[in-house]
Amino acid sequence: MPHITSAAPATRKPFLSMATIVPRTGTIGVMFIRDFLASGRPSISFEFFPPKTDDAALQLERTIAELSELEPSFVSVTWGAGGSTREKTIDIVSRIKRETGIEAMAHLTCVGANREEIGAILERLTDAGVENVLALRGDPPKGQAAFTVAEGGFRYASELADFISQTHGGRLCLGGAAYPEKHPECGNPAVDLNNLKRKVDAGLDFLITQLFFENRHYWEFVERARSAGIRIPIIPGIIPITNAAQVERLTLSCGALLPFKLGAELDRRRNDPNAVMQLGVAHATSQCIDLLTHGAPGVHFYTLNRSSATRDIFSALRVMGLAGQEVQV
Ligand SMILES: Cc1cc2nc3c(=O)[nH]c(=O)nc-3n(C[C@H](O)[C@H](O)[C@H](O)COP(=O)(O)OP(=O)(O)OC[C@H]3O[C@@H](n4cnc5c(N)ncnc54)[C@H](O)[C@@H]3O)c2cc1C
Repeated sequence: MPHITSAAPATRKPFLSMATIVPRTGTIGVMFIRDFLASGRPSISFEFFPPKTDDAALQLERTIAELSELEPSFVSVTWGAGGSTREKTIDIVSRIKRETGIEAMAHLTCVGANREEIGAILERLTDAGVENVLALRGDPPKGQAAFTVAEGGFRYASELADFISQTHGGRLCLGGAAYPEKHPECGNPAVDLNNLKRKVDAGLDFLITQLFFENRHYWEFVERARSAGIRIPIIPGIIPITNAAQVERLTLSCGALLPFKLGAELDRRRNDPNAVMQLGVAHATSQCIDLLTHGAPGVHFYTLNRSSATRDIFSALRVMGLAGQEVQV
């Protein structure tokens, strides 16, 4: 049974036969995401999280195989809250790179690790061929209300970015998180933006935003970021809604507003999973079309380890010539 752990790679089923993948030029081999972004081609990326159960691991295997066929510019794997699933993150990222040839970025947080431990993790990542890292402060572990600094560790993502730049700057391309509707812990958008500028100046090459449902939040944020002197690409993060209760929970925790009309329509369909999914795909597709036709550098999909909605959106974008290339089977 395919199960994602750090042991026994020989018994694992590959995510997808390499024969079915025709790599996009520039996505196989050494690839810093900043170089891909500099090419001007829209970057389409998918985010996964490490599974907690065997069933969830199987689901992720299927999702990665199905989404690999779309030849994303890169994929990313989150670092579990509290660093709980760090082995799995390292393992999944390495396997995606090795088995599909698709660029895979590891998220890395400051939670529960001092600088020596983080240095050791960075060595493991670079030894495994990882070339892109999303440097984050991180969410606190489950059951803990607030972030606490590990002894000898880092308080802010900017400190982590600074550390990585100094120790692994030549070997790693660095991304960071940005919040169009501001980070929930920061009371003032201008202060949050100053903090973001500090983080970017610590050595970030690109930003990926928190999810949002109204594109005006993204465009206004990009404008404010440019005025503040932030010049690096800002990739919008999009979540296709597939479950009403789940998205309501997510928006509460991350501070993104669900627009009234979208929330009401979602509520009306709440007991019909197909109808919720159709609305989610339609809304996210219209967001992506607007973003890509008006100059966003790409779209990062929060897939929640499911492929169906993301594939539908991708198909629509491909028909419009906004994403993808032919896959030869
Ligand atoms: C694209 C994306 C991917 C993510 N992936 C993960 C993941 O894999 N694992 C995970 O646990 N979480 C993840 N998160 C969530 C993220 O860890 C949380 O949102 C966390 O609360 C903040 O992380 P950060 O890196 O943005 O922190 P920071 O940039 O450090 O900001 C955190 C807070 O501190 C403030 N701040 C920053 N610098 C200073 C300063 N010098 N002085 C005073 N205040 C300051 C900021 O304004 C903000 O309010 C992700 C978020 C995004 C958008």
